[in-house]
Amino acid sequence: MIDLRSDTVTHPTPAMREAMARAEVGDDVYREDPTVNRLEAMAADLMGKEAGLFVPSGTMGNLIGVLGHCQRGDEVIMGHLGHTFLFEVGGVSALGGVFVHTLPNQPDGTLRLEDILAAIRPSDVHHPITRLVVLENTHNRCGGVPLSVEYTRQVGETIHARGLRLHLDGARIFNAAVALGVSAKALAAPADTVTFCLSKGLCAPVGSVLCGSHAFIEQARRIRKQLGGGMRQAGILAAAGIVALETMIERLAEDHRRARELAQGLARLPGLYLPMGLPATNMVFLNLDESLPLDATAFAARLAERGVRVGVVGPRQFRLVTHYWIGDAEVAQTLAAFEDVLALLQ
Ligand SMILES: *Cc1c(COP(=O)(O)O)cnc(C)c1O
Repeated sequence: MIDLRSDTVTHPTPAMREAMARAEVGDDVYREDPTVNRLEAMAADLMGKEAGLFVPSGTMGNLIGVLGHCQRGDEVIMGHLGHTFLFEVGGVSALGGVFVHTLPNQPDGTLRLEDILAAIRPSDVHHPITRLVVLENTHNRCGGVPLSVEYTRQVGETIHARGLRLHLDGARIFNAAVALGVSAKALAAPADTVTFCLSKGLCAPVGSVLCGSHAFIEQARRIRKQLGGGMRQAGILAAAGIVALETMIERLAEDHRRARELAQGLARLPGLYLPMGLPATNMVFLNLDESLPLDATAFAARLAERGVRVGVVGPRQFRLVTHYWIGDAEVAQTLAAFEDVLALLQ
């Protein structure tokens, strides 16, 4: 099976499995796991923050980020197409009592500065306190688009001047860094806290890291324990994360090249179009023309019969994500499968 549903489907590489088997471990709740400690230090360094915290998922990283910045009843501003709003089970409200104010994500994944400014509540007994803004880089639902250093800096400056904090959902921040030719550190610099995923394009089996100041991460460690995320000999998992950070970042450029080639090939086929244009990173959003007699679910079932799995993200929309296990041959086979399904519709 060629699995393009997400880069979360990536299996650990042979080098990761070897590192996992050899990993030195200890009890990480006692902070005695040397491999976790090493991963957290590496992550903090890459993000330009003082400290890092290994967490089981990006969802938990973002949740702890929001809970660390906000008290019950405080308000967080985020995009209406953001992962934290759409796909994290409402955790910030359910578990933190944090009030969510969504703003329209622009097609490039950004929130307009004037919208953010207008959303910040004046101090008034009737209002919750606006405490935090969440940005996402790359922006998943807007096409895997990277947010620039300059934009992130502008948001950071604007909201810091008003006493708010910035959390960056950098699940795919290394895809953004590679696509823009800048460091992840530069992209994360304006943010008080940042989460990134080891288990997507970087191929580690499990885990994300939340980074921020020493004081914030101390508190985050307590919240992680409260949520049941205190892990013991987690060095087995962290070992794969270290291999990911050491060897899997630069190669993301290959995923981006293949996503572009896949998109160009698909756009040439009749009845298919790219609603968000050519991909900047590893995600291809693809639509079926209204003239085709199949919807995306039925079309995807026919692709699956031909050994290709794609994500169905709308009645006539697919998402295809390239990753380590998708080589040039898999791109060619995917194009052939689409052609085959389309030919049978003629
Ligand atoms: C995948 C993802 C997350 C975290 O997801 P988990 O499955 O919980 O690791 C967070 N934000 C974005 C933008 C993502 O794509």
